[in-house]
Amino acid sequence: MADEKEQLRYDPAAIEQKWQERWAADPRLYAAEPATSKKPKYYVLEMLPYPSGQLHMGHVRNYAIGDALARQMWMRGYNVLHPMGWDAFGLPAENAALKNNTPPREWTLGNIASMKRQMQRIGYAYDWATEITTCLPDYYRWNQWFFLRMYEKGLVYRKKSKVNWCPECATVLANEQVIDGCCWRHEDTKVEQRDLEQWFLRITAYAQELLDGLDKLDGWPEKVRTMQRNWIGRSEGTEVDFFLEEINQGSGIMDQGSERQGTDNREQGTEKQRIRVFTTRVDTIFGATSVQLAPEHPLVTAFSAADPDLKVKVAGLLDEQKKAREAGDVGAIEKHGVATGRFAINPYNGERVPIWVANYILMDYGTGAIMSVPAHDKRDFEFAMKYGIEIRRVIKPVEEAEGSDALPFISEDGVLVNSGEYNGMSCAHAQGKLQEVAVRGQFGEAKVIFRLNDWGVSRQRYWGTPIPMIHCERDGLVAIPDDQLPVILPEKIEITQQGGSPLGRVPEFVNTTCPKCGGPARRETDTMDTFVDSSWYFYRYTDAKNAKAPFDPEIVQYWFPIDQYIGGVEHAILHLIYSRFWTKVMRDLGLVKNDEPTQRLFTQGMVIKDGAKMSKSKGNVISPDDMVTRYGADSARMYSLFAAPPDRDLDWQEDGVAGVSRFLSRVWRLYKKLEDLKRKYGNTSRHTPGQAGERSEAETKLLRKLHQTIAKITFDFEGRWHFNTSIAAIMELVNLLSFDELPIENGFAGIRPQTGWISPEATEEVYRVLPLLLAPFAPFLAAELWEALGEKGAILRAPWPKSDPELAKEDEIEIPVQINGKLIAVVRVAAGADSKTMEAAALANEKVRDRIANKTVVKVIVVPGRAVNLVVK
Ligand SMILES: [Zn+2]
Ligand SMILES: [Zn+2]
Repeated sequence: MADEKEQLRYDPAAIEQKWQERWAADPRLYAAEPATSKKPKYYVLEMLPYPSGQLHMGHVRNYAIGDALARQMWMRGYNVLHPMGWDAFGLPAENAALKNNTPPREWTLGNIASMKRQMQRIGYAYDWATEITTCLPDYYRWNQWFFLRMYEKGLVYRKKSKVNWCPECATVLANEQVIDGCCWRHEDTKVEQRDLEQWFLRITAYAQELLDGLDKLDGWPEKVRTMQRNWIGRSEGTEVDFFLEEINQGSGIMDQGSERQGTDNREQGTEKQRIRVFTTRVDTIFGATSVQLAPEHPLVTAFSAADPDLKVKVAGLLDEQKKAREAGDVGAIEKHGVATGRFAINPYNGERVPIWVANYILMDYGTGAIMSVPAHDKRDFEFAMKYGIEIRRVIKPVEEAEGSDALPFISEDGVLVNSGEYNGMSCAHAQGKLQEVAVRGQFGEAKVIFRLNDWGVSRQRYWGTPIPMIHCERDGLVAIPDDQLPVILPEKIEITQQGGSPLGRVPEFVNTTCPKCGGPARRETDTMDTFVDSSWYFYRYTDAKNAKAPFDPEIVQYWFPIDQYIGGVEHAILHLIYSRFWTKVMRDLGLVKNDEPTQRLFTQGMVIKDGAKMSKSKGNVISPDDMVTRYGADSARMYSLFAAPPDRDLDWQEDGVAGVSRFLSRVWRLYKKLEDLKRKYGNTSRHTPGQAGERSEAETKLLRKLHQTIAKITFDFEGRWHFNTSIAAIMELVNLLSFDELPIENGFAGIRPQTGWISPEATEEVYRVLPLLLAPFAPFLAAELWEALGEKGAILRAPWPKSDPELAKEDEIEIPVQINGKLIAVVRVAAGADSKTMEAAALANEKVRDRIANKTVVKVIVVPGRAVNLVVK
């Protein structure tokens, strides 16, 4: 007896170990067919992880979503590419080296090995033959190759720039890596500003295309597209030159000048110095009562050189600006400024306006100079009120109403006043006109500016791709020839906490020969931002072993674009803009034909526990290994899909995992029971097949549920992936099976009571389909049940079941009956009943009859198949 009981027990550890070994022995199972395959292709990809050493529940869920999809697409007959790799460069390896004295490479590869073991234990269907590891030379040499191609195309340049510096990391951070003024890796470390020579990729060359492309990405979440649009930050406007008033000229001369129109300024013979401002509202230029410059504007530097007092004040403003930048919010800065004592001339009316320096004007946005129009801009208004600068209305509402004379008046829906010959024009019309005048007068032009800055890729770190450039005393910057790639990252290195690039302290690396002149030269010691690695990794998966090129364009053309990309919304800006940029560059290099890497993007919700994101500091981390050991991989991954729709946050409840485990255990016992029945009654073929006509009520009900479940799950996969409802539907089906155990036995026993008989054929159909439906969510158990049914091939290659609409159809449907908009009763009618039948059923209902007694039915509205509405008086 004890043995029998033991046999009935669901033992996920044993089942999962068995299948893990089988799958490991048959790597072709999860391999894609070559690009010459006649099958339709499907490329499903989850974002590659950073090898921290341990999977967390967020990973488990992310990969379970992609894995369910990949498995279902295999069963639907697609040629599926489902790869995995490692985003393996980055600072934690250096920190670990400092802490444990383990070389970064060793630490990283060790972590990869343990995470790979975890993934294999959970049973993700990855093609490990295409695995990539970005910290290995066979991968990063192509980062270097791409860098050189971009350098040739003028997309790489070097400039001195203000950088975000994390003192803790001792390195530069991208703007996106500064969060609330602190380092993204060191939440408590304030980021400083420093000046350094940096390498940049000219992503701004693609700003407009990156923006336009978003309109076509309708398979992306709208929130991600909006975040990218804001990040790119396109503004349309006008650049206008104000003229600098010569300081040695008396005011009398200037008065003369101001009577002249700026348009003929060049005729004066001497070219006047100009201050170019950017404005989105050139229609308000007659209301400009000052010009404001960034503290770092070259003119401010020039003014300060001759004015020590100004110099001190400007230094103060710059300091405030730096602090605000470090705090991550220049917009919230307390506004300060200083008058330079100098004046600029408005080119449209010759008016003389004071030049100020203000702490909120940034040198790297627009031209580093603005015209200030306090009557029609909130910030300018506050500033003018504070410093007593003139406020002059130049726009009034089209229709004046009470209170419409209040300032600032911020609207483009108005007409110009106090604007000379432009008075009475609409704002939009005036913008066009004023732009034309500026172009004709050669003091301005229409201009589009972007908030997006070029991508600073220099990092003063060790654990990254070496930048393949050489500094030669004779030749300056020299690119390393392709045949000398890869520039190998030296392995013997001492990681210290000193600032500057660790590579700079390795003479064998630094000292080299110039490829151009053969003389002594120094290697570049900066390494690349790790976002370079992830910008094109998904192309490499298609041809991961190619030693001659990053990939074969023909293979890429077969697989791209990615059919479904899955990852966290935290990558909406960085990775997902950089990788779009990289694709466009590769297209322009003739390497790929697609404009975008992925047509469809899915961003899964977070896994939280007790209302908070899992983190070590909160002590609410659930370890995947622990869950797998206790409940099995199938239960852990199925729970991660069952507990919430994939796009929502999931609040991890261990009870829930236990519940899924109990459910799988029930499924297991059902199959044991089936084996018992077969043993007891012999092979099903002994029985006469049931005729369709004599199908019992119980059998009809069971088959209806089966086919409805198939239809529902198929729909969920094609739609919004609400796998939680897919799994709930499987549970309902299983409930029905358990309930009907007895009639199932009747079938095997050949007993045919009126309604309780289920033919062995129907039973076998349900038992055969159930593992197929489970396969995307609980692949180990599904494989085990499939084999138990006597199936020989892999369940992953078995066709996805088809729903028979005839069998799925309900005989009767429930129809709500409303009287004057109020629900009174629910009646049952045959599915497909016509309006007359529905109306009759409604009127025959007792409750309805009571309500309409002594009243007049004015109208009957029948919505076929849905509802009956009565209007009575
Ligand atoms: Zn840091
Ligand atoms: Zn040289």
